[in-house]
Amino acid sequence: MTTATSASAVLGIPTTNHGVVDAHRAAQPAANGTFLIGYDVESGNVDVTRPFLRRVLEIHEATGVPATFFLCGRTVALNRDELRPFARHPLFDLQQHTYNHVLLKSVCIEDPDEGVRFFKGGTLDQIRDEVRRTSDLLRDEYGVECRGLTGPYCYYRGLVDRHDILQILWEEGIRFTRTWGRNERDWQPVELDVQPFWYAPQGFPAVLEVPIHGWQDISLRKTVGWTNFQGFLDGTFPYMERAAHEGLTFSFCTHDHSSTREDPGMQITESILRRATALGMDTTTYAAYHAALEVR
Ligand SMILES: [Zn+2]
Repeated sequence: MTTATSASAVLGIPTTNHGVVDAHRAAQPAANGTFLIGYDVESGNVDVTRPFLRRVLEIHEATGVPATFFLCGRTVALNRDELRPFARHPLFDLQQHTYNHVLLKSVCIEDPDEGVRFFKGGTLDQIRDEVRRTSDLLRDEYGVECRGLTGPYCYYRGLVDRHDILQILWEEGIRFTRTWGRNERDWQPVELDVQPFWYAPQGFPAVLEVPIHGWQDISLRKTVGWTNFQGFLDGTFPYMERAAHEGLTFSFCTHDHSSTREDPGMQITESILRRATALGMDTTTYAAYHAALEVR
């Protein structure tokens, strides 16, 4: 036991610092935890996206683990027919990642290797246009009503400080977001204590935030080396094991271009799917996860 924990326990203060999360926490602990995987499908190169789509179908059908695609509209426009089989596939769920990968919020990344880097968020008008165009495309092309969105880059604290963006997303039909994917340095990892929660204090009690946990794949693969598969798994499995042990939700983020980089067979991703199954975790799509909480 650490000194800090002892002091908190003595004073009766919760040992977590995530009040904004815990006040409107969405899910009760579940036996063996819950595993969610979302692919940000965003490449502008069809020679990247199409081999990814072929392989991702194989590994999910082989393992029976469901998945969500968070699609950039521009990537859908380049791969309309290739994405069609996923629109009605029982293991897949299509949501969005804006049209042109416009950030919802600025991020100022404190990367221990590359230093400080700033990326500017879009305007409110841009955000509305980006979200609407992508939802329209998914509806027109596949008959899909888009209800979920992952924010490009993701952010520290998600959208808890941006009721104006939440208002736009609400008006555009978005009911769940995956936007908390960075820590206080706009870096990673994000700890499992940041569990899914409702944006109730901001006035949107029916909008669910499902954060990203651990490392976004690009950051960790770059850190350990793109060909170091075991290094990546060693940095990811402990989050899954803790989630399974404590009945928590583990939400994993990977991409079309990074899951296949130096790993065209997607061995890393398949290992993660198989680990989730071996741990007895409940596996589902983000849409199904949201729907199950919505009707409770
Ligand atoms: Zn992205």
